[in-house]
Amino acid sequence: MAEHYSMIINGEAVDTGETFAVQNPATGEKIATVAQASLADVDRAVEAARAAFHGVWKKTAPAKRTRLLMKVAEIMREKMRELVALEVLNTGKAVSGVIGEVHQAIEDFEFYAGATTKIYGQTYPAAPFVLNYTLKEPVGVCAQIIPWNYPLMMAAWKIAPALAAGCTVVLKPASLTPLTAVKLVEICHEAGIPPGVVNLVTGPGASVGAYLAEHPGVDKVAFTGETETGKSILAGAAKTIKKATMELGGKSPNIVFPDADLEDAVNGSIWAVFTSTGQTCEARSRLFVHEDVYDEFVAKFVERTKSLRIGDPADKTMHVGSLISRKQWETVDSYVKIGLGEGAELLCGGARPEGLEEEFADGHFYLPTVLANVHNKMRVAQEEIFGPVVVIIKYSTEREVVELANDTIYGLAATLWTKDTARAHRVAGQLQTGIVTVNHPYTAFPGTPFGGSKQTGFGRELAFETLNLYTETKSVLVYTSDKPVNPFGL
Ligand code: NAD
Repeated sequence: MAEHYSMIINGEAVDTGETFAVQNPATGEKIATVAQASLADVDRAVEAARAAFHGVWKKTAPAKRTRLLMKVAEIMREKMRELVALEVLNTGKAVSGVIGEVHQAIEDFEFYAGATTKIYGQTYPAAPFVLNYTLKEPVGVCAQIIPWNYPLMMAAWKIAPALAAGCTVVLKPASLTPLTAVKLVEICHEAGIPPGVVNLVTGPGASVGAYLAEHPGVDKVAFTGETETGKSILAGAAKTIKKATMELGGKSPNIVFPDADLEDAVNGSIWAVFTSTGQTCEARSRLFVHEDVYDEFVAKFVERTKSLRIGDPADKTMHVGSLISRKQWETVDSYVKIGLGEGAELLCGGARPEGLEEEFADGHFYLPTVLANVHNKMRVAQEEIFGPVVVIIKYSTEREVVELANDTIYGLAATLWTKDTARAHRVAGQLQTGIVTVNHPYTAFPGTPFGGSKQTGFGRELAFETLNLYTETKSVLVYTSDKPVNPFGL
């Protein structure tokens, strides 16, 4: 891998001065330096994106955009191993999960390559003498700001629909994990996407990110990250009434009904919270278990959680890797202590794993942790921990559990385990979340709308309807009568 990663502005690698280091979270080792953008670099990136938008991209035929997006996907597939290895190195997450993320990033480009040629307007005979038709036009320059938990996948979720719609992009990856995003933007250029269409700037969110999100040359902000950051970005974007998409935090419920297949429910619920070391926005981190099956379910859940293999992220047999940083480790650990202080019972985890190889002595590993005896008002049941910690809450009735599940500021995903089809549909309809999964834990497939309600944000990604968020509808009204136009009867 390279030792240094540059920004990419107008198709060129840019290094204008300062740099920062990125680490392998599993070992604490520095793995590369990255160029740090100045505010002038952000200006240049936005200018390049504006020029490319007006000069080339919005005029590029949809079929050509299809070919270019397919080419990006093709090159990503050729470089699959390199992308997976780099992502594992920079995130410390288990390779078993990262392989799926990289596959999905590729499929996002394939999905939007197909979607590009299906962006249609409508016709409407508005009056006998007026024909109205609509054009779907790209919104323009998009600032896209992404988090560290799925660096490549989040970059793909952002870039692919924007390019499909005819927008241009300035992407800002998280400072902890910029490497695969840089690689992806390089691949976009290798595929033949013209200079200036996809630009990438790096650096701290509070300065570079905030400046980009407020930039008057930007037409839309697409943000994924914490709810508090989203609020501040929205306030900045409001100054010039930018369009916005917000994919923010979560505290998603997972409900085990008494008629569930308990084997599936145990295995699926473990994945739903501990995959990606628990650092997923849709982590089903509040586990509601019906009192009739509580003891049996919890005993199995804890026994199998203890059997999860945690260690070397590059080892395909590992289920769980490292957390992203020392700071995140401390946040997770402090939440476990807060939970215990609130009266929760620690059933397993709550510490660094023992017996890790010497190489990982400075890594940020944290054991998958189960807290029971939790009630829904506790901080550990209300606040996003963003680590491998699940809280278990016992309930008695369907009505009660729906109320508890909805009692949160967030509304991203929910999972149900039941063999009663009527109940599954009934409860799915009552949950205040953007996504409900029934009898399995998987939430994201290209083509499936992904996003949340309440303080999880607004807008849906990953789907065909996402293109509406990157296009404006223009109404054209054409006079078709042979009579003169004289509204005032002059
Ligand atoms: P974060 O909000 O700290 O940072 C996200 C990005 O915003 C980074 O690139 C950061 O540099 C930038 N940033 C920070 N402050 C900024 C500011 N004031 N102005 C502009 N940009 C700024 O989030 P994180 O810690 O990187 O990621 C974890 C969060 O992301 C969690 O809350 C998680 O739930 C959320 N997330 C949500 C989804 C979703 O689809 N809903 C998906 C993944 C992650």
